Amino acid sequence: MKNIKLVFLDIDGVLNSFDSDDERDFTPAGLSTKGIKWLEEIYEKTGAMIVISSTWRGAHSVDWFKGAFAAKGWFRPEIFGLTPKLPNTSFRGSEIEKYMRVLYDSEMVVDSYIIFDDGKDFFDYQPLIHIDGQKGIQRHHIDEALVILRKGEK
Ligand SMILES: [Mg+2]
Repeated sequence: MKNIKLVFLDIDGVLNSFDSDDERDFTPAGLSTKGIKWLEEIYEKTGAMIVISSTWRGAHSVDWFKGAFAAKGWFRPEIFGLTPKLPNTSFRGSEIEKYMRVLYDSEMVVDSYIIFDDGKDFFDYQPLIHIDGQKGIQRHHIDEALVILRKGEK
């Protein structure tokens, strides 16, 4: 078994908002540089890797996201995967649940994880850090994530 930590990441309203580099620009150039540096900080401090749960995953590959994040200054971004599309629902909580089940079947245990999203379609038990979609990700969200991701560390 391999133990990992994950950050499930929405894009619109999180890295793409009125506070990002180019407001509501639906291109990689518009993403928040400071938000992506914060994600790098989370990785440096906890080892938590990124899984894209945004609808952007329908149009782009992991490598595309790596390129987009690298262009914003996280040069070797740890983007681990994309959540699946399910046949009967677009409920993100179910997509994340399914993703975790597949990991478990391939002998990976998720020690801790968080979800950054400006939406609320998650199960109550899932650790959502809810973001105001107008403002996008802020410093206090990062501090909140660090606390949850470090839980259980010796
Ligand atoms: Mg969103």
